[in-house]
Amino acid sequence: MSPQVYISGKYYDKADAKISVFDHGLLYGDGVFEGIRAYSGRVFRLKEHVERLYESAAAIALAIPMTREQMAAAIDGAIAHNGLKDAYIRVVVTRGSGSLGLDPRKTTDPQVVIITDKISLYPEELYEHGLKIITAATTRNHPNAVNPRIKSLNYLNNILAKMEGVQAGCLEALMLNHKGEVAECTGDNIFLVKHGEIRTPPSDAGILEGITRQAVMDLARDAGYRVVEMTLHRHDVYTAEECFLTGTAAELIPVVECDGRTLGDGVPGPITRNLRQRFQLLVREPGR
Ligand code: PMP
Repeated sequence: MSPQVYISGKYYDKADAKISVFDHGLLYGDGVFEGIRAYSGRVFRLKEHVERLYESAAAIALAIPMTREQMAAAIDGAIAHNGLKDAYIRVVVTRGSGSLGLDPRKTTDPQVVIITDKISLYPEELYEHGLKIITAATTRNHPNAVNPRIKSLNYLNNILAKMEGVQAGCLEALMLNHKGEVAECTGDNIFLVKHGEIRTPPSDAGILEGITRQAVMDLARDAGYRVVEMTLHRHDVYTAEECFLTGTAAELIPVVECDGRTLGDGVPGPITRNLRQRFQLLVREPGR
């Protein structure tokens, strides 16, 4: 069966899953989205993802035409409908169709789209040997412009940085905020290990507050590590004992090189490996 895409209450074959060219989601990137994972038929941190979706929508004054409970049920339903157990789920809410002007009041019918797909992870050898990243020249969006805490349909800021990474032969790129502090990567949050302590930029550094980031901070604390949210600079990355990234698609992936500097011993460190193992167990644990 061809994958079935949910659009505002109905399912469509992939080829017929279409949105109007007048939708402000397309015309202006006016909308919000989520990337979610299901493991063994269970959606990981569904409530948290739904909450972040509604917070993103609230921040752009977009009224999602269903309740949080209906949204959660629709996401679960889309997995079941497609007969998937392990899946990547993309939820998109657009502003809806309107006239060719910016004014969101001129739009009607916000669209809710749920796409379910097989997961495509980074190649397995990168989890074993670690990623190489570069720092992008593109600054992460200023929080007073498009706040990175909003997971909006306008991802050009991240795409521009990603292009720099690709050009340098890297699959991820580090983004600094307008103050030159470490913010996050184009689609992942960043963590460093220094003196055995786990460090990550705070939410006001201009980052998306990753659901995986929170899950990893919680499980690291449960495992007895000290975890601190603090301002970090590139120097801290270059001199870190260990570095790893977190994200829904990436899970937890080691970084062994940044801007041509070898990080730590140049191989995934013991804390990174330990946390990755714990994360693997967490996502497969019933009732987590
Ligand atoms: N930062 C950005 C910019 C992202 O797009 C994402 C999600 N891909 C993340 C961080 C990680 O967030 P999460 O753990 O919720 O997937």
